[in-house]
Amino acid sequence: MNDYSVFRRSRLQLALWYAGIMGLILSISGVGIYRAAIESSWLAMEREIESIAGTLHDSVEPLLPVGENPSRVLQQIFPDLCLRGELCEKTPTLIQRHTIGISDRNTYYIRLFDRHGKLLAFSPNQPRSLPNRFNPTPWQTFRTPRGIRYHQFTTILHSTPQSDPSARLNTHSSWGYLQIGRTLEGFDTQIRRIRWILGAGFPIALVLVGVSSWWLSGLAMQPIYQSYQQQRQFTANVAHELRSPLASLLATVEAILRLSPSNRNDLSVMLNTVERQGRRLSYLIADLLFLSSLDVNSASTSFQSCCLNDLASDLTEEFLELAIASDIVLTKQIPDDNLYILGDESQLYRLVSNLIANAIRYTPAGGKVEVVLRSRDRAALILVKDTGIGISLEEQRRIFDRFYRVGSDRSRETGGTGLGLAIAEGIARLHHGTIEVDSELGQGSTFAIRLPLASSIVSESKI
Ligand code: ADP
Repeated sequence: MNDYSVFRRSRLQLALWYAGIMGLILSISGVGIYRAAIESSWLAMEREIESIAGTLHDSVEPLLPVGENPSRVLQQIFPDLCLRGELCEKTPTLIQRHTIGISDRNTYYIRLFDRHGKLLAFSPNQPRSLPNRFNPTPWQTFRTPRGIRYHQFTTILHSTPQSDPSARLNTHSSWGYLQIGRTLEGFDTQIRRIRWILGAGFPIALVLVGVSSWWLSGLAMQPIYQSYQQQRQFTANVAHELRSPLASLLATVEAILRLSPSNRNDLSVMLNTVERQGRRLSYLIADLLFLSSLDVNSASTSFQSCCLNDLASDLTEEFLELAIASDIVLTKQIPDDNLYILGDESQLYRLVSNLIANAIRYTPAGGKVEVVLRSRDRAALILVKDTGIGISLEEQRRIFDRFYRVGSDRSRETGGTGLGLAIAEGIARLHHGTIEVDSELGQGSTFAIRLPLASSIVSESKI
């Protein structure tokens, strides 16, 4: 197939289109999967921060004092936090206590601000470059100069109302703010890993898609290529078949033109040859036109009810004269009950007559040809049996091919073109039927046509 540039080009175009579309689908899916994976882990991380913040908030809020120096109280509540302005050498254990059950414990830090946004206390593991200035936005993401990203959540803390009425006057609904954050190092590593997998996987997938699309486009082109080859072979056969009679016809015409007046007696013989060759050409062209009409009309043929009993009887009678001339006994076996099928009568006549003509043609004098009609399994069976020369097993597979002739010379002698059985098979196929051959060399052949009976008429005939 790759020897023909038109097929190679079409295959390449098909493969490129296929690879392009697959590549586009893969890219869209890859981006979708990437975004979904990032989004879900981002949401899971935010939920985790929120849940830790909630736990801290609920456990801290009832203990918050009103109107006292918060440093003293904070030291009691958060013994592990560093107080602003004081030396801090503590280890981050408090946040660990509050995040029991959460796998990634060392990544969190907390900070406490008063209600004016002044930093009061912070975890010792908070990022150094974190500004002390308070930003009330609930969710914030920032990057340190070292390139590490942090994500933090800010929630309001309310102080507990006091029982002392004078103290209640000082009660402010907002005591301050709790800020809890975490490093995004793990998250960013995960993103990088996903990007790397997608980045490396995409070209590999693209190469695989390219190879498979080349292979698939080859598969898709195969039937087209085969049909093209058949068409080429057919055209070559047609040219060959037309050339021989034409050449012979031209040679005869030239001979006639050169004929001297003394040889006028040969003229009628030569004209007979011209007529025979012309007729042969005309039959060949008619057969070719009929074959192509069979290919085109596969669905549009309007069928009518046809009686196969009449068809078999008529054809047996028609060929009787030829059979007698060839010293062949032609008999028929037709049931009393009529068998009907839906079909094109003239085509059906052609189908059966092709088989009978062949049977007589390929049966030596003294032989027998029998036409049998019967019904079986809701189908009509037409058998054309002969006691002729038979066909070998290998040839049986090829005799339905266009222009195929067993021993072309012998067939040419009999006037065959090699299209008769191809036409017969085409007609049978058009009528949703089949045609099969059973033959033995030197013993004879049986051609069996099976055609579906017209269902509405089946009941009329006894099957
Ligand atoms: P042709 O026009 O040459 O007969 P067909 O397509 O009708 O072409 O037949 C193809 C070949 O099948 C013939 O060349 C012939 O050799 C073989 N063939 C067909 N029918 C018979 C038969 N009844 N007995 C033996 N050979 C047959």
